[in-house]
This record gives sequence, C-alpha cells and structure tokens, in this order.
Amino acid sequence: MRIGLYPGTFDPITLGHIDIIRRACLLVDRLVIGVAINRDKGPLFSLEERVAMVEAESITLARETDTEIVVHPFDNLLIDCARDVNAQVIVRGLRAIADFEYEYQMVGMNRVLDASVETVFLMADAHYQAIASKLVKEIARLGGNVSNFVTVPVNEALLEKYGSREK
Ligand code: ADP
Repeated sequence: MRIGLYPGTFDPITLGHIDIIRRACLLVDRLVIGVAINRDKGPLFSLEERVAMVEAESITLARETDTEIVVHPFDNLLIDCARDVNAQVIVRGLRAIADFEYEYQMVGMNRVLDASVETVFLMADAHYQAIASKLVKEIARLGGNVSNFVTVPVNEALLEKYGSREK
C-alpha cells in the first residue's frame, strides 16, 4: 500500500493546497495530510480549526479521487511523522523559485535523517499557483474578496475571524 504524507500549516487550506491534494491522490492509496502545529508561524487559526477545515474538504476530495484521506496533526520532526504514519513518500507543492531553496535544503537534510523516505514535488494548476495562505489572510484582513482563492466554508471562517467589512 502506497502511503503519502502531505505536510503543511494549512492556515487556512486554500485552493492551491486542494489542487495539490487532488494530484497527490492520483499517486498514492492513502494520503495523510499532516497539519503542523507550527507555533513559530503564529497561525491565525488554532490547530483544531485548521484540522476541522482540512477534514471538511477531505470528505469531498476522498470521494472525488476514490482515495483514502486521513488528517493527522503533528508537532514532531517531519521525518518522524512520516515514520509514524508509515509514509514512503512526502508530498510538497512547489510554487515559485522562492519555495525552491527552502525545499531543497529540507529534502537534503531529511534524506540524511532517513534515506528511505522520498520527497516528491507537485505543481498546482496555473490558476492556483500564486495562492499563498499568508496573502489570503492579508487580503481578508484588509476586507478584500478571497473567494477565488479558498472554498466557501474557509471564506466564511475568514470573515468570522476578521469580521465582515462590507459597507
Ligand atoms: P508550510 O508551513 O509547510 O509551508 P503551507 O500550508 O504554507 O505549509 O504549505 C504546505 C505545502 O503546500 C507546501 O509544500 C507549499 O509549498 C504547498 N503549497 C501551498 N500553496 C500552494 C500553491 N498555491 N501551489 C502549490 N503548492 C502550494
């Protein structure tokens, strides 16, 4: 059984993440979405809120792709998380050159920690490549419309966090 781990902060889950999840589901039998606690990033949404949003999206995605999707919060080393969930493959999304350097270093170091876990990079559809949770939050905070970047429930969660700014 091929098990993939797609880790991230998902603060919040965007259409970019969803596009990567769909593609990853074509490659594995079970996709574990690892939601990092990531205190350093000072997430807007609590771990529970992020997990609930990812779980809600996963139901539709699992049905659509006919793949088992499991949501797994984690607070340890990525490579240890991969071992915990028996993943042979770590899936990461690549957006622009800016992502590359960090990802390159992470693969290099993870490979030293455990050479048996492979990392694969997927690119989202051109429509979704530019989407970043950080910018989505910034736009929502300033009262902009993020409905092209996130699903309806996530949009509502953002409106609730920042309050509706419609005049
Ligand atoms: P992290 O804190 O690990 O960067 P994120 O939630 O920001 O967590 O991202 C998780 C993964 O999804 C990363 O591999 C990131 O590059 C990828 N990703 C996020 N948005 C997109 C997008 N629009 N297109 C492709 N990959 C993306």
